[in-house]
Amino acid sequence: RPPLHVPELVLPPAAQPGMTLAQVDTPSLLLDLDAFERNLDRMQAHAARAGVALRPHAKAHKCPAIALAQVARGAVGVCCQKVSEALPFMRAGVSDIHVSNEIAGPAKARMLATLARHARLSVCVDAAQQVAVLAEAASAAEARLTVLVEIDVGQRRCGVGDAEQALALVDCIDRHPSLRFGGLQAYHGGAQHRRTRDERREEARRAAEKTGKVLVRLQTAGVTCDVVTGGGTGSVEFDLASGVYTEVQPGSYVFMDGDYGRNEWADAFRFEQSLYIDVEVMSVAAGDRVIVDAGLKSMAVDSGLPGIRHAPGDASGAASALRYVAANDEHGIIETDSGALPPLGTRLLLVPGHCDPTLNLYDEIIGFRGETVECVWAVAARGFSR
Ligand code: PLP
Ligand code: MN
Repeated sequence: RPPLHVPELVLPPAAQPGMTLAQVDTPSLLLDLDAFERNLDRMQAHAARAGVALRPHAKAHKCPAIALAQVARGAVGVCCQKVSEALPFMRAGVSDIHVSNEIAGPAKARMLATLARHARLSVCVDAAQQVAVLAEAASAAEARLTVLVEIDVGQRRCGVGDAEQALALVDCIDRHPSLRFGGLQAYHGGAQHRRTRDERREEARRAAEKTGKVLVRLQTAGVTCDVVTGGGTGSVEFDLASGVYTEVQPGSYVFMDGDYGRNEWADAFRFEQSLYIDVEVMSVAAGDRVIVDAGLKSMAVDSGLPGIRHAPGDASGAASALRYVAANDEHGIIETDSGALPPLGTRLLLVPGHCDPTLNLYDEIIGFRGETVECVWAVAARGFSR
């Protein structure tokens, strides 16, 4: 049978600009544009004051419209975590992208080298074999790739362990004319969600100390590092003041999430929750609980089940008497200890536990002000995990 080309069979967008929030289809991702813009302005102002470049992590939003808003405010470019993730941002005109990650295979290296003909691109290494693969691909593509050596500053994920290993990799990079050594990446993911500021300050201090030692060793060997990049939303307060980083790469500050909401913050670095999942009560038959239309396929729960906000723009942070207690594939179970359960058709706003993987579940971000939809932005890098 030939495919049916019937307009009704194409999924329409969940919202159009000009709609009221009540007309938005659910579940969908809502963005409080006032809070979002304040978050962007605030992070840019902090970076500018510290004299440190801001290169926001685009894995948080995967949305070219947001990347362009960050660049328009002064961001030097963005980070991507995967090579393919860079594609939609480059198509939208973002011309400076750091892949804050290692790659091992020739297919990815080829893609990266080809992209490097169209934008400033850099990538991380922590092994000589990665350098060889990148050099081969860059010279075949007649491109020049900037390569940063990643050092492990406490996360125990990627990165070399000490200054001698870093220096050996710099030598390795320098032997290839198709590669340029760009500096260091020193990112400590484990520090970001430590709840108290004291814990994060201490982890960030240790990361900066170790990075400083590597820098001194490289300097002694006559190697200059143009860039030292790292930092996330949880540690940026300390990274900006460390004197070690030339660039910070926070991502989640744009949206915030339930997990970051549980951190203790200095007032100046408390970013606002701007991201919600708009859901609908679609069954009340049980009587002692209600069921909403958003479960595991509508939100990441690796950092806990979502919180509940009643109304858009409710920035009070007051906890709802409702609790989201269990997520099935497409159902969310909501209970309450006190107060009434919401009737069928009620709209609720959920605060996802973890913003990055939640964004990856949606095709669009619906930006609103007050009760009105202002924009619908494509999450164009959604699913670009290669
Ligand atoms: N840089 C790297 C390498 C990361 O892996 C991440 C997030 O995991 C970030 C920056 C941004 O961190 P956050 O979203 O917590 O600000
Ligand atoms: Mn995250």
